[in-house]
Amino acid sequence: MKKIRRSSLAVLCAVLVLAVALAPAALGLLFAQQSLRHDETARLNRVADAALVRAEDVTRHLSSALGEIGRVPDEPCSASYLRELRRIALEHRAVRDAGAYDHSGRWQCSSLLGAVAIGALGGRKLPPPDWRGRDGVIAWFDLVHMPGGDESLVLGRDGYYVAADPAAYLDGLAARPGAIPDASTNASPNAITKPGAIPASGLGVINTEMSRVIATTPSADPSVMLALYRKPADAPADDTADTPYVVRRSVTMPIAVVVSAPREALPERLRSLPWGWLLGGVAAGVALAGWAAFFIVRHMSPRGQLTDAVRRHQFIVAYQPIVDLATRRCVGAEALVRWKHHNRIVRPDHFIPLAEHRGLIQAITDQVLDTVLLELGEFLKRYPEYYVSINLSASDLTTPRFLDILTPAVARQKVKPEQIRIEATERGFLDAEAAKEVISAFRDAGHPVYIDDFGTGYSSLSHLQNFRVDALKIDKSFVDTIGQDAASSSVASHIIEMAATLDVKVIAEGIEREEQATYLHARGAQFGQGWLFSAPLTAAEFIRYVGRTRAG
Ligand code: C2E
Ligand code: CA
Ligand code: CA
Repeated sequence: MKKIRRSSLAVLCAVLVLAVALAPAALGLLFAQQSLRHDETARLNRVADAALVRAEDVTRHLSSALGEIGRVPDEPCSASYLRELRRIALEHRAVRDAGAYDHSGRWQCSSLLGAVAIGALGGRKLPPPDWRGRDGVIAWFDLVHMPGGDESLVLGRDGYYVAADPAAYLDGLAARPGAIPDASTNASPNAITKPGAIPASGLGVINTEMSRVIATTPSADPSVMLALYRKPADAPADDTADTPYVVRRSVTMPIAVVVSAPREALPERLRSLPWGWLLGGVAAGVALAGWAAFFIVRHMSPRGQLTDAVRRHQFIVAYQPIVDLATRRCVGAEALVRWKHHNRIVRPDHFIPLAEHRGLIQAITDQVLDTVLLELGEFLKRYPEYYVSINLSASDLTTPRFLDILTPAVARQKVKPEQIRIEATERGFLDAEAAKEVISAFRDAGHPVYIDDFGTGYSSLSHLQNFRVDALKIDKSFVDTIGQDAASSSVASHIIEMAATLDVKVIAEGIEREEQATYLHARGAQFGQGWLFSAPLTAAEFIRYVGRTRAG
């Protein structure tokens, strides 16, 4: 049983330690992941904010450039008009070209190429615009192949236009190889806000009236950007989607930006894991596991639990009647300790050896005495012919400590010393000299001393020669064999004879059958104890038992 308990405790211990160690590590991982997700979202938000500022900035520049052209007083396409166009194109970084067209959309002149109405490009027409704004602004989102040779986004009004490199919308926002080059090197007084390079993201600028993509970074797929933009606005940005993304809408212009972060490759993600959280989790786990192990050893090991039991006075006492074999009347009782542990009664065989080993037995002996005097003190005072015997362990027999407690305690209760008797096993005589002195001291103080389990030790007889005791308790094992042919069946009668020679009384333990009681009485044993008479009882039951046998 002890083995089972110890192994299940070990399993419990292992499971607990593991759980306690893993839980914070798992929590650490969870926090790490959340922190990573949080960082990712925060990063996307930062990129989106910057991209929207940039897109609004570019749009503002384009429309203010358009406004400036409208205010040029000179004849369109005149030399001075063209000079103004060049100045405007230079001052507004987003503007790559500015020019004029006639009412049928034919090119007239451009800041880059001058007057083009005649010559090789003469008669070239702009395609119909993709969009018309409320303020008369028109736009070509499908990039127009401009005279200068570049694909451009074009905004126009009343016969003049500005052409922009769509990449200007995202200029400096993408820092991936192959992304739009950083144009900050040719900064001008009208330089567009540059938020600094932001790592790998898909970026798209969208016209919200038309739901058309104006510009994207080279790494971004325009159709994906549009699909992300069209997702419901309240859909969480980064939970179910494989692609975490953020959409920002301008409140002043019909534009929005979409920023997406492709799922990074695993090693990249691993590198960006907040290792602090992880390591912190593991460290906390190890610390907690250590604490749990300490707690288990301290409180849940048999030793820890027994220590707690002593502190909490969890011991109760059962009283087994001792009867006079001649009259069958009760003469006293043996106090047998039990441990009340979680509503279970633990027998002394399961904890006395541990208590002896761990130095807890003296405290238990003291609690047994307290209980006996509390429960039977009045009874003993009233009926001085009855006694209770208390079992002592080896350590109780090495010093007079227990006697020093016993003497004032019985005096306080007005119980006669001979009513509290001492049972000492031969195991208690390890230090024979000390035991001899302590036993004499008990006897001198009036407490009769019995040798318990007599006959089971190696040197019972030599002890009897060494010091005097008042009675021998014949061990149950010798009583069990009475009536059988076993060689040990006669040990009981030898002990009784020897006790008679030494003039000490005999108490036979563990009498279960009438035959045993008769045999022992016939051989001269005076007292007996066992289930034949009574099992161990509570104090109240014992008092009732005494009443019955007195009457009978
Ligand atoms: P013990 O002093 O020899 O106590 C007799 C044991 O035999 C008791 O077991 C008792 O319940 C049991 N017994 C009595 N009559 C019969 C019977 O007819 N048949 C059977 N099969 N058993 C019977 P328990 O109470 O389990 O005590 C076991 C041992 O624990 C005791 O043996 C004693 O050595 C020790 N012990 C008990 N109480 C204390 C105590 O307060 N202090 C110390 N140090 N040891 C104690
Ligand atoms: Ca005993
Ligand atoms: Ca015994």
